[in-house]
Amino acid sequence: MEKIISFPHMGNYFVPVEALLRLIFPGHKVLPAPAITKKTLELGSKHSPDFVCVPFKYNLGNYIEALEKGANVLIQAGGGCRYGYYAEIQEQILRDMGYEFQFIKLLSDKINPISLYKTVREIGTPISFHKFLGHLVLIIKMVRIIDDTEAFIRENIGFETEENSFRDLHREFLNRLKTVTALSELNTVHREYDKRFRELSINKPENCLKVGLVGELYTLMEPFSNFFIEKELAKNNIQVSRYITVTFLLFDKFRRRKQILKGAGKYLKYEIGADGTDSVERGRTLAKMGYDGLIHIKPFGCMPEVNAMPMLQNISKDFKIPVLYFSFDSQTSETGVKTRLEAFHDMLTMRKDG
Ligand code: SF4
Repeated sequence: MEKIISFPHMGNYFVPVEALLRLIFPGHKVLPAPAITKKTLELGSKHSPDFVCVPFKYNLGNYIEALEKGANVLIQAGGGCRYGYYAEIQEQILRDMGYEFQFIKLLSDKINPISLYKTVREIGTPISFHKFLGHLVLIIKMVRIIDDTEAFIRENIGFETEENSFRDLHREFLNRLKTVTALSELNTVHREYDKRFRELSINKPENCLKVGLVGELYTLMEPFSNFFIEKELAKNNIQVSRYITVTFLLFDKFRRRKQILKGAGKYLKYEIGADGTDSVERGRTLAKMGYDGLIHIKPFGCMPEVNAMPMLQNISKDFKIPVLYFSFDSQTSETGVKTRLEAFHDMLTMRKDG
C-alpha cells in the first residue's frame, strides 16, 4: 500500500519537514496537513478533552484534516511537559474515531541520528544511514537559515516603504527552499535571499518602538494560534523580537541551560519547566536592553508559563517595562486581542513621547 506521510503545522517549519521527508522517502507521498483554518481548531477542539492545552487541539485538527485527505502515516514529536503525552492520547482519539493509520512517535529524550534512522527504516526508507545523515544536516541548516531570516523580517517588516515587499520576498524564499536538495545549493540560496532581504527599502527610525515576545513555544511560533500578533505589531511600526525558535529549542537551549537560569538573575532560583525559565530570562534581558514593552503569550492553562508570570510582573516593576499578557484557547476572541494590542501600542507611544 502506498504510504502517505503527514505531520502537524507550526509556523513555516512545514517547509524543511516536507523537504526532509521527500528526500528520505522517495517512493512515498508526503502530504503536509492542510493549512490551519478556524475549521482545524473547531475539529481539534470537538474531539479533544476540554481542559487540554490548545496546541494539542491544533495538532489533532491537523491530523483529522490530513487523514481526510488520505494520509495513512502520521508523525508526532514529543517533548517535556504535557507535550510528552500528546502522541498517545491523540493516537487513541483518532483510532476511536475509526481512522486507520500508522502513528510514529518521536520522543525528544530518545532522539539521536541512530534512533531516528531506525524509525525511518521502519516506515520504509530505502536510503543508507550515510545518505540519511547528509539529508539531516541539510535540513538542520535550512531550519537555522529560516530562523535567522525570519528574525530579520520580524525586526524590519514594520518599516517597509513598499507595501508587502517583505511578505512577497518571504513567500518566494520559502518556495525556493522547497526545491533545495544539496548543501551547496542551500548556501547559494541563502546568500542570494539574505542580500535581497537586506536590500529591501525600509524607513526605520533609530528610536522606534521595540517589543519582545516571550512565552510558550507553540503559541509563539504558530501565527494562527496567536492571531498573527507579529503582523499586527508590525502594522503599528514596531520592531518585534522573539527568541524561541526551533533552532533555539533543538540546539541552543540545552547547551545554554545553566546560562539561561543564571540570566534570569534574582527572579529564578530553579528551572520552572518547558519554556517558563526562558520567558523569565528573556524578559529580564530584553528589559535590560531597553525594550519598550514585553508581550507574554501562552495557551490557557499552561502551567510553566503561569509560573513565569509573577517573575515577569517583578521584572515589569523593577525595570519599569509594561508587560501585556495573552492566554489563548479555542474560545479566544480575535477582536479582544486586537483591541488590547491597540491599547498597548497607544500606551507605549505615550510613554515614549514622555
Ligand atoms: S508547555 Fe504549556 S502548552 Fe506546552 S505542553 Fe506544557 S502545558 Fe501544554
